[in-house]
Amino acid sequence: MTRLVIIGGGIAGLSAAYFALTRPQNPPDEVIVLEKADCWGGKIATERVDGFVIEGGPDTFIAMKPWGMALARELGIADRLHGSNPKQKATYILHQGRLHPLPGGLTMMIPTDFGGMLRTGLISWPGKLRMGLDFLLPPAKSPGEESLGRFVSRRLGREAYEALIEPLMSGIYAGDGDQLSLQATFPYLRDLEVKHGGLVRGALAAKRERMKRNGAAPGSRSMFVTPRTGLAELVEALVARLRELGAELRLGADATHLARPRTLYQLTLASGETLTTDYLILATPAFVSARLLRPYDPELASLLDAIPYASTATVTLAYPLADVPHPLDGYGYVIPRKEGRRALACTWTSTKFPHRAPEGMALLRVFVGRAGQEAAIDWTEEGLLDIAREELRLTLGVTAEPLLHRVFIWPRAMPQYNVGHPARVGRILAGLDRWPGLALAGNAYHGIGIPDCIHSGEMAVGRVLRGDEQD
Ligand SMILES: Cc1cc2nc3c(=O)[nH]c(=O)nc-3n(C[C@H](O)[C@H](O)[C@H](O)COP(=O)(O)OP(=O)(O)OC[C@H]3O[C@@H](n4cnc5c(N)ncnc54)[C@H](O)[C@@H]3O)c2cc1C
Repeated sequence: MTRLVIIGGGIAGLSAAYFALTRPQNPPDEVIVLEKADCWGGKIATERVDGFVIEGGPDTFIAMKPWGMALARELGIADRLHGSNPKQKATYILHQGRLHPLPGGLTMMIPTDFGGMLRTGLISWPGKLRMGLDFLLPPAKSPGEESLGRFVSRRLGREAYEALIEPLMSGIYAGDGDQLSLQATFPYLRDLEVKHGGLVRGALAAKRERMKRNGAAPGSRSMFVTPRTGLAELVEALVARLRELGAELRLGADATHLARPRTLYQLTLASGETLTTDYLILATPAFVSARLLRPYDPELASLLDAIPYASTATVTLAYPLADVPHPLDGYGYVIPRKEGRRALACTWTSTKFPHRAPEGMALLRVFVGRAGQEAAIDWTEEGLLDIAREELRLTLGVTAEPLLHRVFIWPRAMPQYNVGHPARVGRILAGLDRWPGLALAGNAYHGIGIPDCIHSGEMAVGRVLRGDEQD
């Protein structure tokens, strides 16, 4: 009898269980998933209430990375995936307290429509001139590992970085662009510089290439998709399939201690129960994996512990449309760090996904918290609700009481791929070589998006069951 235990029932751990049971020629006899919470999915948390679909964590995943779509197809739910509302696609950026439409023609987040850039009120004329320098500046020869902030400022100027690029890019990580590693987050931007001599030139070439391939203007298809009644559909389908495949799925199973007295791994749960296993995948946040590994590999544990995390929260509020003195004519807005707000962004869910709110209702979702600013936030439900309501009052003029609200607090949820991250992950993987049958999965290493997490589960299975190299 061979056994694989996976700790963590988020999308990475559940995917790992699925791949362990469907991919190898000789799957383990037993696959057990241990999840400490009382529900599956980790950060994927959908609530369906009074005709509203409320996402507490992610609300879409990118279709371009193949692993999310492929899993949805295998689970038979691909036909339930849809994009965001194609009729009202505007996104806004807050600038000096007012909403400005994001200039059109962004390709890979880089402006490629000169008319739109000239017209935008987001950037001053000197700032726009500085952006034009991107066409003249030669590529940096060997800049070493750069932060996103330094790289974009070097190419397009600091003003364009702060007003336009930072809120779009840092929002994905709730991060600080001056700390985030370009190589670990948006490596293709450096490729554009190296291959085409500049960012805008490179983005224009990528746009032409995409138009040739798709025969349509970029942006005509939604880049992000989601199941009709929320991302929990993905988790529900995965859990159902795992049950059919014979996996043992255990909620309320908090793994507290790990040992390896001989060749088998020995786990202790908070209940006092112990389990031995041939193969083990830690699909937990890096700091939890660190805690489990510390007793027998303090060096590996320290590397894992050094991955910083930011805390974040989402506050969703519902109002009758009549109480919202704004047309909500788009997907929402992002807030640059320099605006000094405690909120990071606001999604107009009822416009982005009209079927997720009953007719005549507005569903708004405010993101709170970003790396380095945690201390400014009262992380209680009431404190977060106050911040969200203040944000809606200041920007959209909403003063009414919400009909309903939901607050999701995610402490230490977003791993920060700061400068040094790629090297650290390299050392972590090298450290794992000391422990046959052990692998790591999840959002802390090679990508935080859902498709990346699914892929991390597949890679971890390859490593423990087939001895594949993980890189
Ligand atoms: C607010 C928010 C919005 C986001 N938006 C998007 C988006 O739109 N699109 C996108 O692609 N991504 C988005 N992300 C990122 C994405 O949701 C996450 O990176 C991904 O879901 C993480 O999956 P995971 O399995 O690695 O980790 P998790 O979901 O964190 O799962 C880890 C699991 O391990 C469990 N666990 C921890 N310790 C133990 C233990 N000792 N024993 C047993 N179990 C344990 C936890 O309870 C948890 O369920 C968002 C994230 C957040 C927080």
